[in-house]
Formats: sequence, structure tokens, C-alpha cells
Amino acid sequence: MSILTLNADLHSHSTISDGVLTPAALAERAKANGVDVWALTDHDEVSGIAAARAAAHELDMGFISGVEISITWAGKTIHIVGLNIDENNPDLIAGLAKTRSGRERRAQDMAADLASKVGITGSFEGSLKYVGNPDLISRSHFARYLVEIGAAPSVSDVFKLYLAEGKPGYVPHRWATLAEAVSWIRGAGGAAVVAHPGRYDLSPLAFDSFFREFKEYGGIAIETVTGSHTVDQYDEYTKIANQYGFLVSRGSDFHSPEDAEVDIGKLPLLPKFSKPVWENWLSA
Ligand code: AMP
Ligand code: MN
Ligand code: MN
Ligand code: MN
Repeated sequence: MSILTLNADLHSHSTISDGVLTPAALAERAKANGVDVWALTDHDEVSGIAAARAAAHELDMGFISGVEISITWAGKTIHIVGLNIDENNPDLIAGLAKTRSGRERRAQDMAADLASKVGITGSFEGSLKYVGNPDLISRSHFARYLVEIGAAPSVSDVFKLYLAEGKPGYVPHRWATLAEAVSWIRGAGGAAVVAHPGRYDLSPLAFDSFFREFKEYGGIAIETVTGSHTVDQYDEYTKIANQYGFLVSRGSDFHSPEDAEVDIGKLPLLPKFSKPVWENWLSA
């Protein structure tokens, strides 16, 4: 198997953040779908990694420890994935705890706004039913509850109507900085990777300064083949990676069997001329 044909899925979520499968159930699904190397990348959390690694080893599947850190850059929320991290690194653990700490307050503010602006009451308590980790209440949990009560037909419709920036349930939040996220990841021995770059609403000029700054701090890769990108974006971001000298990563961003863009392990292979971030970690 060559380094480009390896079925690496290095972006996925469990019940430790906003996924619906436990780390062990996610490992089983990844294995059943043909994944060779899997990374669990819960939002701002590493507490699922030990169980994920044990399950992957049990299934004889490659495992890379990961995390997806929320940052605020130029007023926008951006996600930075850390791969091959030491999840026991104290600075990483403390940084993630700090990043998570505002989530409950934010969720209460979201619920208050949904009640006062669109008359949806009880969404904080309702969303909690979907939360696997009390430290990590996310918009995804609100979205599942709003689907349950019929406020919209699907999770993606809930985001469009209520939870995306500018919508009535959106509460701006200040996450970690880019410098912090990259330094926590590097300090824990990991590779910093820009998650799903095609999802950010940045001008070409802003993207250029973002990528340069990311590189200055020691970021080394961007996701190209992800469940959040169109087929055209796979090639577009492969070119961009090569222009900036970034390695590339591949991951479904799988959260739930019900509303997955792409199932775990079911992405197309990397385009030609890709330099995968895993080339230094695994022998072909
Ligand atoms: P939060 O970290 O609480 O702001 O929640 C962000 C999460 O919401 C992301 O990680 C996605 O899982 C989910 N999300 C964001 N936008 C959308 C969307 N348009 N459709 C479905 N899920 C989304
Ligand atoms: Mn998510
Ligand atoms: Mn993300
Ligand atoms: Mn994700």
C-alpha cells in the first residue's frame, strides 16, 4: 500500500464532544468501513483518546491521537486540528480546559436568545439530553434538540435558520488564539493542521495572511480531502498546500450516522501531487 492510497481518516468526533458514537463504537465503524489509520479529533477535548486507542489496537487498526481546537482569528471562528499529540501534555490539557470553560455560559445565552427572539423555550435543558460530556455543550447538541421539536427538518437546516453567524441563536464567542492553539499542539509533539479551510468566510487576502501566520507559528498542514469540501475543493486546496509548502491531511469529520456528509472511511483518495502529513509517521 502506498502512502497515497492508505485509507487514513484523521478527523472524527465521538460522544466526548459533539459526535453520537462512543470512541469504541466509532473505532468499530471505522474498521468496518476499511480505515487503515484513524484519528479521533474531538473538539477541545482529549479525554476520549485512551479508549479510542485501546479500541483501535483491539481491532488491529492504526491510530493517531488528535484534537480539533476552536480558535478566533480576525473575528472568525476557525478550527485547528492537532495530530500525533501527546494527550497527557499538561500545557495542552490546561489550554483545552481554558478553551472549553466558556461553553456552558454561551449555551445559556443561546437558549435565552432562542426564547426571546424566536419563542423557542427550554433549549438549554433539551440540548443537555444530547450532551455526552458536560464540559462540552456545542451548537450540534442544540441542533439535534431543535430537530427533535420540529423547529427545522434537519441539523443543517437548524444551522441555516437559527445557529449560523447572524442567526437568532448565534452567540459570538472568543476561543483560543491561533498562536496558542499551534503552540499547545507543537508543545505536545504534534502536527498542527488547518481543518476544512474551504468552510471559512475569508477574503483571498485574509486567507493569505492566515496561512502565512499559521506557518510562522509552525503549522505544517491543511486538510484537503474532507467531508466539508466539494470535489473541486480537493484539488483547489491541494494546489494551495503545495504553493505554501504545507503537507495535507484527509478526514471525514464524521459526527453521526444520521447526518454525515461522508461516512467515516468513505472519502476519495488524496489527489496526485499530495504530500500527506502521515508520510513521516508511517512506513508505506
Ligand atoms: P460549536 O463548537 O459549539 O460552535 O459547534 C460547532 C459544530 O457545529 C461544528 O463542529 C459542526 O459539528 C457543527 N456545525 C457547524 N456548522 C454546521 C452546519 N452548517 N451544519 C451542520 N453542522 C454544523
Ligand atoms: Mn463538530
Ligand atoms: Mn470543524
Ligand atoms: Mn470536526
